[in-house]
Parts: sequence; C-alpha cells; structure tokens
Amino acid sequence: MRPLLFAANWKMNIGPKEARAYLKTFRSLYQPHAEREAWFFPPAVSLEVVAEGTADRSDFLAGAQDIYWEPKGAFTGATSAPLAVQAGARATLIGHSERRHVFGETDEDTQRKVAAAFSNGLTPMLCVGEKLEQRDAGKTIDVVQRQLTGALGGLDREALARVIIAYEPVWAIGTGRNATPQDAAAVHREIRDWLTRQGAARTRVLYGGSVNLKNVAELLAQRELDGVLVGGASLDPTAWAQLVQTPAN
Ligand code: PEP
Repeated sequence: MRPLLFAANWKMNIGPKEARAYLKTFRSLYQPHAEREAWFFPPAVSLEVVAEGTADRSDFLAGAQDIYWEPKGAFTGATSAPLAVQAGARATLIGHSERRHVFGETDEDTQRKVAAAFSNGLTPMLCVGEKLEQRDAGKTIDVVQRQLTGALGGLDREALARVIIAYEPVWAIGTGRNATPQDAAAVHREIRDWLTRQGAARTRVLYGGSVNLKNVAELLAQRELDGVLVGGASLDPTAWAQLVQTPAN
C-alpha cells in the first residue's frame, strides 16, 4: 500500500456554517485509512472552523488557499502566513492556476509566498501546469520547469523535500476535461526528474484537473501520482468521502 494524499480545494465555496455541516457528514462517512491523508483548503473565512473540526485527526489537515508574503500591514483583502497559522492552517496552496491566470500571480510572487510559508511553518503546495496553447505548442515541460525553478529554485534539498507539488494542466481545471492518466504520468516523471536533479527525489507530486469519482481510480493506478488535488468533486462531502476511499491498485 503506498501513501496517498487527497487534497480538497473548495475555492470560493462553503462558508463557516456550511463547513460545519460538511465536516459532520464527511466524518460520519470516512474513518481513517492506513497511508491515506485528507487535506482541506477552505476559503479563508472557513479556515478556523475546518482547522478546529479536523484537529483531532492526524490524517486530516486544514490549509489556506493562498497567502500574501508580507507578514502584516495595509494589504486589504489579503491573508498573511501568520494570520493563516493563527486560524489553524498548516499548509497553503501557492500558484494555483486561478491565482496565476485570474489574479496575475507571477513566478516571482510564488517564490515569495513559498519563502513566507516556510518562515511560518506552513507546508507549501505549489501548483504548476500549462495552458492549452502551451501544450499544443509542445511547451508543457518548459512551462512546468520554469514554474518549478521560479518558485523553488533557491531552496535547499531539506526544504524541497517538504514541499508538495500539484501538477494541474490549466485546460483540465474545472472544465470536465482531464488529462489521460498516461499524460499525467508523463509530466509527473519530468517533475520527478527535476526534483531528483535538485536532490529531492521523494517530494510528493499530486495530480489535479477535473478529477472525479469516475476517473480517480484510473489516475491512482499510475504509480507516479502521490495523490490528487480536487476542486469541484470535493464540494459534496458524501462524494468526497467516497473519492478518498477509492482503492488504488
Ligand atoms: C483545483 O481547483 O485545483 C482543481 C483541480 O479543480 P477541479 O477539480 O474542479 O478541476
């Protein structure tokens, strides 16, 4: 049995009241499984509720969807790493494709956020992935390597071993069109090669992009995947409990 991480990105859904009800249902349907973790990335307003509602389970973890790199000050609307930690976060997404392509986050921004996460004891989950036109132009690996180097290039191998990478092709996120398991595995191998060259061959690499109950088993059958990062299919606690229990062959 290999260790697997199932990460739920709720995006801009599920407020604090709904989060309480969600966790009640999820917890009634999902008992701990050996070598399996379920992480939750709720919106900032629900972080404390989710952190408190999962604190007693070592296989659960609550994280922030984003942090700003400055520790405090006049940055209206932003959440700093120390504030996320105070609300109970132990990890944070960084460089999610919606942050990059809706809010204009750059590779330099992701590097600052990774540094802020580490300074505050948060595990960074760095999201990387190409747009459709980049894939069609044969640039997938270039783009992914640029994003990896941009965010993580300056880290020593101990820090790199603590990062989690989520490979999420932009064209597969929220579109219902997921990469084939073989496509995903091929890019995972390139990411693994990049990590190995940096001396961090065991860093966890997840796949994300329209993962759902129908396709998750086939994805998990790819040994290159250490788990999945899931948006839409994590919003219903019953379906998410089922997904997290999917057997991996
Ligand atoms: C995501 O938000 O990281 C994601 C993969 O979304 P979805 O599963 O909805 O494609």
